[in-house]
Amino acid sequence: MDMIKLSIVSPIYNENSLVNDFAKEVLKVIKPMGISYEILLIDDGSNDDTWQYISELSSNKENNIKGIRFSRNFGKECALAAGIENAKGEVVITIDSDLQHPVELIPKMYEIYKQGGTNVVEAVKEKRQKESLLNRCFAKFYYAIFYQLTGINLKNASDFKLFDRAAIDAMNRLIEKEVFFRGISKWVGFNRKTIYFTTNDRKANISKWSFAKKIKLAVNSLTSYTTKPLLFILLMTAVFFILSLISSIEVFVRYINNTTLAGFPSVILLICIMGTAILMSLSLLAIYINQIFNEVKNRPRYIVAQTCGIK
Ligand code: UDP
Ligand code: MG
Repeated sequence: MDMIKLSIVSPIYNENSLVNDFAKEVLKVIKPMGISYEILLIDDGSNDDTWQYISELSSNKENNIKGIRFSRNFGKECALAAGIENAKGEVVITIDSDLQHPVELIPKMYEIYKQGGTNVVEAVKEKRQKESLLNRCFAKFYYAIFYQLTGINLKNASDFKLFDRAAIDAMNRLIEKEVFFRGISKWVGFNRKTIYFTTNDRKANISKWSFAKKIKLAVNSLTSYTTKPLLFILLMTAVFFILSLISSIEVFVRYINNTTLAGFPSVILLICIMGTAILMSLSLLAIYINQIFNEVKNRPRYIVAQTCGIK
């Protein structure tokens, strides 16, 4: 049997009947393309009727819809990882299931790939979706730090991407447990092209990312990608070494000249500064130890509870 040409991979968490709309829209653009395809829907442990909708969709064999259901919510990154591991296509397109990524771009992305010479097509947001001020500030701050530390610009990046087999196989070889999809998809390299899109407003429900989830993703993505923050401890040590050298000389000179200051405030200040520096260093180490701990436990990234449409 010939290889499937195109796999659509989409993570889904508590989207209810929106799954039907999503499948309908995707089928509408993918069928006229006239190539073999599969639509792989990963239910990230939804606790609403999402799975019912997915299994109904997959029971209609004409649709080529397959479903994987996690035993609990493992997060979008793991859902995407499961998707690309199980996708059979020569080309894989990852896309959000909430209709915020315009499905009309699927044929365009495929077209770019068909022209040859491109392994990865990245859809970049022209304008970010409407967000609260806090979210916007947080995103800006985080992207600036991420860029400084890794040289990777994640601003306006999305998980709407096309990968050819070579890129998919390369990503499937990265087996870290705390996986950050946008990070690994950049890390593997290959020839890349960018196209732009404007995110649609969410049709139903609200964004699934709580602020706490975002913080967790931000810390994980950074620490799974780079150890540069650890160098910050060295830098801090150097700065404090110089400061303590200067202040020791001052104390010594004052001692010789008999002009010693009443020491209490400066001692308190020093204790505060040093205490903060030490605690900050320890926290940084703790974050990385946590990361190492999670990796060495070597647990699977996700647990599959059920599948449908997969042989
Ligand atoms: N999603 C998921 N697991 C989660 C959170 C979200 O699979 O724990 C899915 C969700 O169903 C959607 C996509 O990931 O298809 C993007 O989620 P969302 O729209 O909440 O994020 P945003 O658009 O705000 O980045
Ligand atoms: Mg969304």
